[in-house]
Amino acid sequence: LMSARGIHKSFGDNHVLRGVDLDVRPGQVVALIGPSGSGKTTMLRSLNGLEMPDAGTLAFDGGPEIDFSRPVPAAQRFAARDRSAMVFQHHNLFPHKTVLQNVTEGPVQVRKVPRAEAEARATDLLARVGLAEKRDAYPRELSGGQQQRVGIVRALALQPDLLLFDEPTSALDPELVGEVLHVMKSLADEGWTMVVVTHELQFAREVADEVLFLDGGVVAERGAPAQLFTHPREERTKQFLHRIL
Ligand code: ATP
Repeated sequence: LMSARGIHKSFGDNHVLRGVDLDVRPGQVVALIGPSGSGKTTMLRSLNGLEMPDAGTLAFDGGPEIDFSRPVPAAQRFAARDRSAMVFQHHNLFPHKTVLQNVTEGPVQVRKVPRAEAEARATDLLARVGLAEKRDAYPRELSGGQQQRVGIVRALALQPDLLLFDEPTSALDPELVGEVLHVMKSLADEGWTMVVVTHELQFAREVADEVLFLDGGVVAERGAPAQLFTHPREERTKQFLHRIL
């Protein structure tokens, strides 16, 4: 579905990504794990045009290959961006808009979906995450877990090929984490293609098809969760898992 090759990104002197490859097949769930500052979020944002890498290539099936070492035409950038949708750590909902308005904003304003159609789809998606009765509520009237579920629905409403999750549960109170992971697991079961940056190793282990361990801006190890978590090959992976588990 998507292939990123040799992604490099620096912020000033800080060379954060040092040649990261990431391939995602349709229906696959890829988890990005690794220590704080290893570049997980930067990599995820690079797939969605929120960061512009300094070098490397990115291609979605059926789309052009973007080469970041050259100036990227705006049309290419937008075309790639529209293939994916991001769920953020802090849901970034508009506080002065209702749940329904938050979810329909992107489809109506950006994707030019007729409002009635966008509202029907939003209502359906909200029902699927157990929030049908909250359509007309404002974000502040919802719990953190409910807000994050709205964040997920907002991404789904864009009908992306690829869902990107940036530590979607790390800002939540512990008792609210489960409901969000549950929704993500159902999406995986339904066949959504997902890249998930997460500190929830148990979730990665249960749901991911492939796990990438990032360390110091490179993929230090990648593999199936059963292999990577149980029999890590690299010393760095062993140490990381030892610290976390
Ligand atoms: P965490 O698990 O703590 O979120 P991470 O692996 O996701 O970490 P990144 O958020 O990708 O790591 O950050 C990697 C490095 O890039 C950090 O040193 C961070 O300070 C730096 N960085 C990220 N975004 C920016 C930015 N917009 N400007 C400057 N530096 C940045």
